[in-house]
This record gives sequence, C-alpha cells and structure tokens, in this order.
Amino acid sequence: MIEMRLAEIAAVTGGRLHRASGEELVTAVEFDSRAVGPGGLFLALPGERVDGHDFAAAAVAAGAAGVLAGREVDAPAVIVPPAEQAAGTYLAEFDPAGAGAAVLAALARLARHVVDTLGDLTVVGVTGSSGKTSTKDLLAAVLGPLGPTVAPPGSFNNELGHPWTVLRADAATRHLVLELSARGAGHITALSAIAPPRIGVVLNVGRAHLGEFGSQEAVARAKGELVEALPAAARGGVAVLNADDPAVAAMAGRTTARVVTVGQAPEAAVRAEDVTLDGGRPRFRLVTPVGEAAVALQLVGAHHVGNALAAAAVGLELGATPAEVAAALSASRPVSRWRMEVTERRDGVTVVNDAYNANPESMRAALQALVAIGAGPPGGSGRRTWAVLGRMAELGEQAAAAHVEVAAAAAELGVDRLVAVDHTEYGSAAEHVGDVDAAVELLRAELRPGDVVLVKASRAVGLDRIAADLLHPR
Ligand code: ATP
Ligand code: MG
Repeated sequence: MIEMRLAEIAAVTGGRLHRASGEELVTAVEFDSRAVGPGGLFLALPGERVDGHDFAAAAVAAGAAGVLAGREVDAPAVIVPPAEQAAGTYLAEFDPAGAGAAVLAALARLARHVVDTLGDLTVVGVTGSSGKTSTKDLLAAVLGPLGPTVAPPGSFNNELGHPWTVLRADAATRHLVLELSARGAGHITALSAIAPPRIGVVLNVGRAHLGEFGSQEAVARAKGELVEALPAAARGGVAVLNADDPAVAAMAGRTTARVVTVGQAPEAAVRAEDVTLDGGRPRFRLVTPVGEAAVALQLVGAHHVGNALAAAAVGLELGATPAEVAAALSASRPVSRWRMEVTERRDGVTVVNDAYNANPESMRAALQALVAIGAGPPGGSGRRTWAVLGRMAELGEQAAAAHVEVAAAAAELGVDRLVAVDHTEYGSAAEHVGDVDAAVELLRAELRPGDVVLVKASRAVGLDRIAADLLHPR
C-alpha cells in the first residue's frame, strides 16, 4: 500500500480526526484486529456477533496507527460520516445510516484515491457465477512475469475484500487483478467505480445467488455491469467474454470496449482445441490470433479450460506471447483450499475436497472432474467413484429442481455411489445419511483402496469435516 498519514486519510474519506494528531503513518489496512500490526489502520466494522469498534483499543495496543471508525472509539481514529446514497448499492443491505456502511463507504473512497494516485496501473476485473477465484489465480500467474501484480490472496470479492485488495497496490504495481461478485443489481457497478477496470472478464452466468436475484436474466444483467463499466475500445477497454456461454456472449452488445471472445466454440478468438483430460487435468492447444502453444493444467476439472482461456486472453492483451501464457498456465498450481483440492491417500483412495461452495454449475463441473479422475489415464482401468453431496444454498424457489438435476447428472455421468448428507431434495437416486457423522461412518465402513471420493456442498453445510476425517482420521 502507499503510505498515508491519518490526516490525509481523514481528508480523503471526509472524516474527522479523533484523539489523533494526524501525523500517524499508515502502511497497511486490516479488518481483522488480530492481523493488525505496527502501521496498520484497523477498519472497525460491526459484524453479526461482534462489533469491530469494541476492538479499536486492542488494535492500537497491538501497534495499529489508528482506526477507521463509524462512531467514537477508545483510540486514535478517523471518524467517518454516514454513507451517502446507499440506496441501489450494496451498502443498502447494511443499516445504511449505520457505522458499517459508513466505514465501507470510506474504505471505497480511500481505495479510489489510491487508484487515482497510481496512474500507470492496469485494472483487470473478473466476474461470473463460478470460477472467479480460480481465474484470478491463473491471471496472477500469467501477469506476474510481465510486471508487479497485485491480486487478492483469497476470494476477496465484495464491498470489503475488493477495496481492501485495491489498497495493497503501490507505486510499483503494474497490474491489479480484482474479483467482483454481486448479490444484487448495482453491486458490480459500485465495485467498478472503486477501481475502474480497463479489462473486464465475464466467465459465466449460472445460478449462484439465484435466490437473491430471482431469475437468471437478472443475474446476467448484474454480471454485465462489468462490461458496461469498461472504457471504450478507443481508450483501451477490452471485454473478455466466454463464447461458450450464450448469456455471456450476448454481453458484447452492452459494451463499447473491444470484445475478445474465448472458449471452445470455433468462433472464439482465443480458443482451446483438442481438449483431453489426464487424471482430470485438462490439456489443450491454445489457439490465438498470434500463434499457438500447448497447455497442460495442474488444476482438476474441464471447467478450468474456460478459466485458463480467459487468463490467456488478458495475458495476450498485456503483451505476453502464447508460449509465455502457456508456460505460466501450465506451471500454476491450485492455491485455494477446499476448492477441488485433490489428495491421494496412502491406500490409493483419492479425496477431492470441494466443500467450499456449491451451485448447480459447479456441482456438474465437480462431478465431471470426479468421473474423469475415476477414469484415470486414457486406457486405464476405471476406479469406483463416490459423490458425497450436501445442500446447495441460496437457490430460492428453484432449489428442489436443481438438486434433482444434480442427482440426475451424477447418474448420467456414471458416478457409482451418490450419498446425500442431511438433504432429501436429491431424491431417491441418492443414498441418504442424516448428518456428517453418519457420512463419515459410511465411508469408513465401505471405502475401498482405489476409490475416488468427491465431497461438495455449500460452505455452511460443513462437509469439509468429512474430507478432514478421510485424510486425518481421528
Ligand atoms: P465465489 O463466488 O465463492 O467467490 P468463485 O466464482 O470465486 O466463487 P471458484 O472459487 O474459482 O469460484 O470456484 C468455485 C467452484 O466452482 C469450485 O467448485 C470450482 O471447482 C467450480 N468452478 C470453477 N470454475 C468454474 C467454471 N468456469 N464453471 C463451472 N464451475 C467452475
Ligand atoms: Mg471467489
């Protein structure tokens, strides 16, 4: 982050100094009071269980330079005014007159100030229902060799994680990769205003957060806000759109930026040809307008082909050659925990832990990967596959049909054992167990060496405990 004095932070955010001289030097911004150290600015945010304002003094005792707060605290602080214009933005979800919205609005202003200060910076925004975090990791791998690159350390894609990531950029940064998520209309527009992207990537329009949006059309409208925020082609705007997803391809009509299509469709400008899977890991020929190169991903699942192509297209835009892109993609290892984390047990059982999140599209992608791992290398003998699945959250009224659809996909793909944990909507095609412990018991009793087990559900279901037991039995 660029260094700032507390007085400057007060000026930028429209806040006032409280118990502070203004000379305090800030070199980092943190929202977790345990992560704040010397030079840190602690963001006091009210949470569901605790209020960060109550940790202000502790953060300063741990060395923090000060606190960004929505009301008076027991420490040197910048007290920021209530948020304006919360309606229509993500801030409307908070108590708009409350301290949380005030601090987030101030954080957004601070992040925008940093972007304006750092002139020579290319901002790349990534959105979509699935694959944002995977793609930002691939992007960081591709862009890193071209120049200093800042990308979020994890799935930091909302009104807190996004500006927090922006603040990590400094004068040396050349590329700023940002993940943008939306729980409603206007969210991506608001995030794009914090750090205006020059290059925007839209991966897919699926059914994640369908409950909040109501319809897939509404999801598409919201994701497309990213391409609407891009500068025109003449000013360097580039929209990277997935040609394989009609709802994304249609976004070409919503942007004045230059469109670069990616996908396996023959008309895609940046294409994957001859896609094969080796133990679930995709290999393909990267075909671009400026040449070709062979890619062998270390990530598991055919869905990563689209993510890799999007990263490739951005790399090519920023000056990498197809060979450089292919090398970076092929060297990139999975970094995010619980997302298709593949572990081999000593007895030959393979555990695929994807317990971080689930929606119908990522379920299908994960089931395909499971079957691909089970099939082994071309010509190998098949292994027995298990899908241990829990509930997919946030699907609204389509929830029942979506679970039945996933169960049908498992059957159609030839998954050997479909186990539904504490969730009956998967229907009669699944074996049902009442809870995580029952699932663990079943697996302990019936897993055989060589089996492949996928564990996947929405995060709140807590299926990571099953994966943990499989790998480190108690
Ligand atoms: P979140 O909204 O939770 O931040 P995300 O968009 O960042 O999700 P990832 O974390 O990259 O997505 O992946 C989430 C899940 O979606 C994983 O199960 C992953 O295997 C699957 N997935 C990743 N990319 C795709 C894709 N292009 N299409 C379908 N599923 C995908
Ligand atoms: Mg993510």
